[in-house]
Amino acid sequence: MNIVFLGPPGSGKGTHAARISEAMGLPRISTGDMLRENMKLSTPLGIEAKSFVEAGKLVPDELVIDMLKERLAEPDCANGVLFDGFPRTERQAEALDEIAKIDRVINLDISDAEIVERMSGRRVCPACGFTTHVSWMGDDLACKKCGGVLEMRADDAPETVLERLRVYHRQTQPLIDYYEQKGLLRTVSSVGDVADVQQRVREALA
Ligand code: ADP
Repeated sequence: MNIVFLGPPGSGKGTHAARISEAMGLPRISTGDMLRENMKLSTPLGIEAKSFVEAGKLVPDELVIDMLKERLAEPDCANGVLFDGFPRTERQAEALDEIAKIDRVINLDISDAEIVERMSGRRVCPACGFTTHVSWMGDDLACKKCGGVLEMRADDAPETVLERLRVYHRQTQPLIDYYEQKGLLRTVSSVGDVADVQQRVREALA
């Protein structure tokens, strides 16, 4: 089963996809995590992607599509995957249709105002990718998954968040119609407790 998680930056795609990944035993493929990993290792792809990611822009389609194709060829993807943060443009969605049959698209719905509030408090573990929020972690900077030190993502700075939202509305939001027309879309409100939203996601996948 192949599932796409669609939604604006900060809507909780990563959080919910990670939980579904554990529950269903399917790998979560996050193009954002993959790009950050390449940036950390200064691979040629990472070096090329860096200026786009840090400015809140999308990395050019061809780079992301090639990176994704390579990942999908790995054996753990044989029974399906959860796409988190891909596709983000119509060009990417068309490319994905050529390489995988999508069974369901979960569209996480949330207002821009709520997103700005969430992202300013988001903290991530650079070692394992675990994501949390200052309102849940108090003063404890230790990652509860691996013990790494949580930090703010460089592209969560307020000006960059606003640019990412603009990019989302212009380039990614049209995919809601794209998947609606294919009869694959389920829209889930991403407002409220993580557990409640997760419950809604599971119902939408049932
Ligand atoms: P969020 O969903 O919170 O924006 P991600 O980790 O998914 O976070 O993405 C972070 C950044 O990585 C994006 O702003 C963009 O620069 C880049 N990126 C991730 N996925 C894609 C993609 N599918 N196409 C182009 N750029 C991408």
